[in-house]
Amino acid sequence: ASRGRHRPDGYDFCSLTHCQFFRPPLAQDANVALADAVNRTAGLVLKVQGKLIDAYYSAHCGGRTASAASVWPDRAAPYLTSVLDPYCARDGQRAWQQAISWTNITRVMNEDVVPILQGPIHDLFVEQKDDSGRVRTLRVVTSTSQRIDANAFRYAINRRLGWNTLKSNLYKIYHGEGGLIFRGRGLGHGVGLCQAGADHMGQIGIGFEAILAHYFPGTSLESADGGERRRVLSSAHFEFHFPAAEEPLVERSLEYLESERTKLGTRSRLLPPRVSVRTHFSTGEFIRATGQPGWVSGSNDGRSIDLQPLSVLESRGILRTTLRHELLHLVIHRLRACAVPGWYEEGMILYLTGQKVSPPPVIPTEASTPTARAKMETSYALALERVAELARRRGEEALWQVLEHPTSEDLDWLKAQR
Ligand SMILES: [Zn+2]
Ligand SMILES: [Zn+2]
Repeated sequence: ASRGRHRPDGYDFCSLTHCQFFRPPLAQDANVALADAVNRTAGLVLKVQGKLIDAYYSAHCGGRTASAASVWPDRAAPYLTSVLDPYCARDGQRAWQQAISWTNITRVMNEDVVPILQGPIHDLFVEQKDDSGRVRTLRVVTSTSQRIDANAFRYAINRRLGWNTLKSNLYKIYHGEGGLIFRGRGLGHGVGLCQAGADHMGQIGIGFEAILAHYFPGTSLESADGGERRRVLSSAHFEFHFPAAEEPLVERSLEYLESERTKLGTRSRLLPPRVSVRTHFSTGEFIRATGQPGWVSGSNDGRSIDLQPLSVLESRGILRTTLRHELLHLVIHRLRACAVPGWYEEGMILYLTGQKVSPPPVIPTEASTPTARAKMETSYALALERVAELARRRGEEALWQVLEHPTSEDLDWLKAQR
């Protein structure tokens, strides 16, 4: 599921929770308690005012969960507030300590953290904390003094110095020999359910309803059948699976997809006889289902298409381009010769859809740090630029020829673009 999601970075997996996946236990060693928990909660969902919630969780909150408002401001929700957690605190709040040398801090900051350092570091200290005590911003003193986002700092340290070097943003900084000592509690972002606390609550006999109510205050547990099931609408060549509320947008999308399919002419024969399109209840659900970061509007696996909620795409004015973009992927991916690199496919699609390369982010997650998104946008913009240049020189029809049957000069040109 993770393959290709880090293509712009040049590798397949990262060592963060971003690329972790759930492996269901094999039948023979299935855990009885786990199976029981799954059975008792099957078909239940958590909702607020009739809408599914984004049920975030982290490994260990260190005694107090973080509010989404302070970690990811545009995911703020009344049920994602900071709550005291006496349950995980019982196992010593998972205290941790990490010494990091000035050499390493300087290296990480120079390689990964914006803004760019102005000369050697004289000091680094906590500037601002949120209501749960987590560090929000740091200040680095060089020849000037600059503010640093605590999330960006932690992700950069973990990327460069190893997964979980800084386990959370719940820490204090002390001066040590040749560097700084970070003393903290907890593991992970701290938003939503705390796995350690929930585990402890379960151990002492508290039921799942009360556990969920503790970490997601104000939500209600409802049957998934209560109207939120996916519905299906089909046209001649497409089959749309969608939440009921999106029906009007689905009808328009089907019409649009059919007309785009017609425009493909004979190339439409490369599409599966009926393309299945799935749209999701929320951005969170889209992320979980596709493994894509939240700023991506759609994805495909070569046969079917997954989309963010249509209402989200519509409100950003990118519903049609997204549909066209993913449809073109299904065709172009199949035509692309082995020797033609992936960026060419992306650039060609961006060119044909007339897309701008910088869509606004939908949701920041651990995965979508500003740098990761910026990198992806830069590589998309570059791909588009190269393809557009080729189209200017040789016309649009040549794009298809290079895609399917590149000559040796075409291949030289593609290679020269690295
Ligand atoms: Zn906790
Ligand atoms: Zn694409």
